[in-house]
Amino acid sequence: MIPVVALVGRPNVGKSTLFNRLTGTRDALVADFPGLTRDRKYGQAHLGGRDFIVIDTGGIDGTEEGIETKMAEQSLVAIEEADVVLFMVDARAGLTAADEAIAKHLRSREKPTLLVANKTDGIDADAAVGEFYSLGMGDIHQIAAAQNRGVTSLIDYALTPWAEEFAEEHGEEAAEEDEWAEEEVVEHTEESAAEEAERLRNQPIKLAIIGRPNVGKSTLTNRILGEERVVVYDMPGSTRDSIYIPMERDEREYVLIDTAGVRRRKSVFEAVEKFSVIKTLQAIEDANVVLLVVDARAGLSDQDLSLLGFALNAGRAVVLAVNKWDGLDNEVKDEIKREIDRRLGFVDFARLHFISALHGTGVGHLFESVQEAYDSATQRHSTAMLTRIMHMAQDDHQPPMVRGRRVKLKYAHAGGYNPPIIVVHGNQVRDLPDSYKRYLINYYRRSLQVMGTPIKVLFQEGA
Ligand code: GDP
Ligand code: GDP
Repeated sequence: MIPVVALVGRPNVGKSTLFNRLTGTRDALVADFPGLTRDRKYGQAHLGGRDFIVIDTGGIDGTEEGIETKMAEQSLVAIEEADVVLFMVDARAGLTAADEAIAKHLRSREKPTLLVANKTDGIDADAAVGEFYSLGMGDIHQIAAAQNRGVTSLIDYALTPWAEEFAEEHGEEAAEEDEWAEEEVVEHTEESAAEEAERLRNQPIKLAIIGRPNVGKSTLTNRILGEERVVVYDMPGSTRDSIYIPMERDEREYVLIDTAGVRRRKSVFEAVEKFSVIKTLQAIEDANVVLLVVDARAGLSDQDLSLLGFALNAGRAVVLAVNKWDGLDNEVKDEIKREIDRRLGFVDFARLHFISALHGTGVGHLFESVQEAYDSATQRHSTAMLTRIMHMAQDDHQPPMVRGRRVKLKYAHAGGYNPPIIVVHGNQVRDLPDSYKRYLINYYRRSLQVMGTPIKVLFQEGA
């Protein structure tokens, strides 16, 4: 399971700055789903070779009255959903009443919590952070989020369960880890890619059914499983765990990742609580193929697009289902189709189905696309083939000059699957503009007839 880190602290301590550092800004998902508190941001993060989800809980203003209620509203859910809480304070501003109120609250919860003093750049940090020991939260981790200082080792520490014991045994050593640690480079060799393809082809397809509340996920899951086979019973586990249901279809094995909690739902009360952003993000991370369900009657929302963005950034194969397509008049249908063309143009490689989970219309065909997407995502490509296509692309459209020399592409090989990763070797390839990279990706997509999955192209200098 991909770990979840929550950032908690009063306003202005640097939570957004750290959030942006960790997520690379691009893919924050603002949670304003019905039934959820606003102001929480969710992001995918990759740092020091680790993947995790980060939640920015939004500011808590401790000077206001009723801090406890505010805490509860804004951050409780995030804290509950998290594996680790990073409690941030401002080393420059010093200890405040708000910090104390938050600390009191956090101490009452049984969550691993690290006290993080931010903005330690350009000051005598050891002296400045001294007063924060009175919060009774143990060691103080010094960082400067704006300078990206201490961030990698903080995350390393936060996500390594044995780090605490290690630090106890080795005293200072753990704290003196390289503050400027470089991001670990994952090896994308032909050999590792071949092993990955082999492994993927021999496992059941993990299919996550995701979407906003009330789009019809439960109805669809029931429909897929065949209603009579759904046994509703109590399952242990918290609200953030999806349910994994093995199933077979067209002689292929699947594991359905049910984020709607069909099998667990027993009462109306649970139905209200069933949606969790973290559950959804974890399901995406854990899946091979994501089936994103949207509601034709509600139209496409920003959250639909955020969820889609998450799935694509995570490299997942994607199938789109526009649900509740029953009983709509033609005018409305045309309107929805136009909106989809306009807003989903960037994902034109994903198959789109208009379905009615309620009546079962179109549901069977979904699996054709799921299989196609998975096959595309795991289809092996030889070095000879990838290199030939690369040369064709280069002949059709020369890469630009960089510093007076033409960028030269030499050869390409597979670097991974689900998503397909193509590693292109050559001279000055790191300097290629994004437009050329997009051109190459599209060229590969057309030539290899890859449907339903994003493709990644990585560049490597030299032969
Ligand atoms: P949030 O309200 O907790 O999300 O705080 P922000 O991330 O918006 O940061 C508040 C202010 O502190 C901004 O002006 C940031 O530029 C500044 N800031 C954040 N991190 C650092 C840091 O490491 N050093 C310094 N000097 N300023 C920082
Ligand atoms: P979830 O929150 O995404 O799991 O959504 P549910 O499956 O609980 O469905 C929410 C509501 O939409 C329920 O009242 C369903 O009966 C209704 N619904 C689901 N699918 C369809 C459909 O295809 N057509 C229509 N008209 N209603 C549907």
